[in-house]
Amino acid sequence: CGIVGIVGDAPVAGRLVEALRRLEYRGYDSAGVATLESGAIARRRAEGKLGNLAQKLSFEPLGGHIGIGHTRWATHGAPTEANAHPHATERVAIVHNGIIENFRELLADLAQDGYLPQTQTDTESVALWVTRELDRGADPELAVARTLKQLRGAFALAFLFKGENGLLIAARHGAPLAVGYGATEMYLGSDAMALAPFTSRLAYLEDGDWAVITPGGVTIRDGRDALVEREQMLSQASA
Ligand code: GLU
Repeated sequence: CGIVGIVGDAPVAGRLVEALRRLEYRGYDSAGVATLESGAIARRRAEGKLGNLAQKLSFEPLGGHIGIGHTRWATHGAPTEANAHPHATERVAIVHNGIIENFRELLADLAQDGYLPQTQTDTESVALWVTRELDRGADPELAVARTLKQLRGAFALAFLFKGENGLLIAARHGAPLAVGYGATEMYLGSDAMALAPFTSRLAYLEDGDWAVITPGGVTIRDGRDALVEREQMLSQASA
């Protein structure tokens, strides 16, 4: 129900939880974060309140200077730790708001190639589809571009890739998502409130947009993959 992301130059796990707290008002039943530790995807997830996730992180800290976080409002699959986001394969971790309406068709197609879900969520179909594209040789951008064309429904998505310490990809299709511009870091959030602790300079993605977010800047494409500029604004939300 809430999405955050940091492409950073300092540890992110605690800051992702802090940003998720600012999305608490939307409601949620579980929460999680994923980062890259030495280039490998690492996750912590917990049922219930953000405090449960924070406590888990205090016992089992998560390193990494890039990461994504999520508060979930379950639509498909019970609100368990196994169904909590981020969902991940070895190659990609994703967080998702909304519903992938054609997930059963996607999973049926993926199963023919041996890509089998571990959870009851609609979301995992996206992680598996991207993974198959990567396994077939696509780079992360192409893998996401191809995957987005398969998805039906209303959603916001963020993707974190194994071995890509300076890359997040985000997509908006019917659920809000904003990119935050820092001096040496870049951010992602469901709304300006989530970004407020980090930066007040942001741009909202429009429906169909997807963004490639690196420490050096943000490239936004529309639903036909054409480069677009989205207006940057100064948020009024207070840190
Ligand atoms: N449909 C997804 C799920 O049930 C995402 C729900 C949400 O927006 O939090 O896991």
